Amino acid sequence: MKTKTISPIMRILSKKYLSSDKTTLNRMRKTPNAFKILIACLLSLRARDENTKKVSKQLFKVADTPEKIIKIPTKKLEKIIFSSGHYKKKAKTIKHVSGELLGRFNSKVPNTREELLSIKGIGPKTANIVLGFAYGQVVIPVDTHCHRIPNRLGWVKTKTAEKTEIELLKIIPKKYWKEFNAIFVQFGREICQPISPWCSKCPISNHCSKEGVSQHR
Ligand code: SF4
Repeated sequence: MKTKTISPIMRILSKKYLSSDKTTLNRMRKTPNAFKILIACLLSLRARDENTKKVSKQLFKVADTPEKIIKIPTKKLEKIIFSSGHYKKKAKTIKHVSGELLGRFNSKVPNTREELLSIKGIGPKTANIVLGFAYGQVVIPVDTHCHRIPNRLGWVKTKTAEKTEIELLKIIPKKYWKEFNAIFVQFGREICQPISPWCSKCPISNHCSKEGVSQHR
């Protein structure tokens, strides 16, 4: 594993991306509302950030608590969140999660990983986003960008985001955990894109071994 490149790369990317942190979920950290962060995260799964922003806003205008979500008829909820994609599945999950919060957690979003993961529909990435962004806990939420890029850099050799998280926790210095997701999501969207990354304009290309990258620009 090429862990020697971690410090120089983290320094370069932190400098470049932390001041321009504009993604929907990261913006929500500034005035944390755990329920809104949880729901926005569920809406963001396999969706573009612009859509997550638009759909979250529309939904929270109508319902911003578990009580209110439960009362929305499913068809209406599906219509509101339609443009986030996979709307039927997401509507079902959002309703189920809201019901669980009401029934088991007194309408509060729990602040432990175990409790969050005990709710069907909440996976490790969503749990970490909630713990990190809503409750300020020091975790590494690993999404598709945080999984793909460390593999390309040769820091880890993993097949799933869950395995990547376990490995990253061993090798990334703790001081970078909190901002890791914010940095890599922006970097993954702009430069190290899933198909054909922009290696020609990448600020860390000198440190990257481009593992598994067959075509790039
Ligand atoms: S050099 Fe290419 S593969 Fe490596 S991090 Fe940069 S964009 Fe990604």
